[in-house]
Amino acid sequence: MGKIIVLRLGHRIVRDKRVTTHVILTARALGANETIISGERDDNLIMKLEKFIEKWGGEFKISFKEDWKKTIEEWRSKGGKIIHLTMYGINLPEIIDELRRVWSQNDIMVIVGSQKVPREVYELADYNIAITNQPHSEVAALAIFLDWLQQGRELTREFHKPRLKIIPQKHGKKVIKIESEIDINPRETEKQDRGR
Ligand code: SAM
Repeated sequence: MGKIIVLRLGHRIVRDKRVTTHVILTARALGANETIISGERDDNLIMKLEKFIEKWGGEFKISFKEDWKKTIEEWRSKGGKIIHLTMYGINLPEIIDELRRVWSQNDIMVIVGSQKVPREVYELADYNIAITNQPHSEVAALAIFLDWLQQGRELTREFHKPRLKIIPQKHGKKVIKIESEIDINPRETEKQDRGR
């Protein structure tokens, strides 16, 4: 299988802080290898997310690229395929088999927008793909796309060298610190959540 990178277009520091964070957390949790942010430069957001990744493990790269067009063209020149998620595209169930074949042989770049996506993106993409032809959210679109592409395998993936690890519970919360193997009680765990 190829590498999966997510290009988040048109980030605006104030308006998109939360949604861009969710795009990146979703990309990481659901099997992508890397995210590139384009739009307004937001080093603070990248720094916070890098700290988060250090805590929860895995090798996931985040970077900022001012010139999204150059980024897409460079990706293509290295043989990568480009999949743009848009409600105007081909609905996912009609084309998922072809996309899985493409991914089995190529690295893929998955593009999601925020504000209005420039027309050129629709033309540069190898595939414009809809997760239903109804408007909704880049976070939902990305999550469903990644899940369908990987057929649910991403849900059981282990993350490399975490400092915190959740021990799944039917009731309550349990988190262990890997360095010390000390269990944290639920109250302390809530503090960790807020500190994220
Ligand atoms: N109005 C914008 C436009 O014309 O491109 C779209 C804004 S939408 C809130 C932000 C992003 O969510 C889109 O760029 C797209 O990546 C994603 N998105 C929203 N609905 C989608 C759908 N039905 N299928 C795939 N992606 C979708």
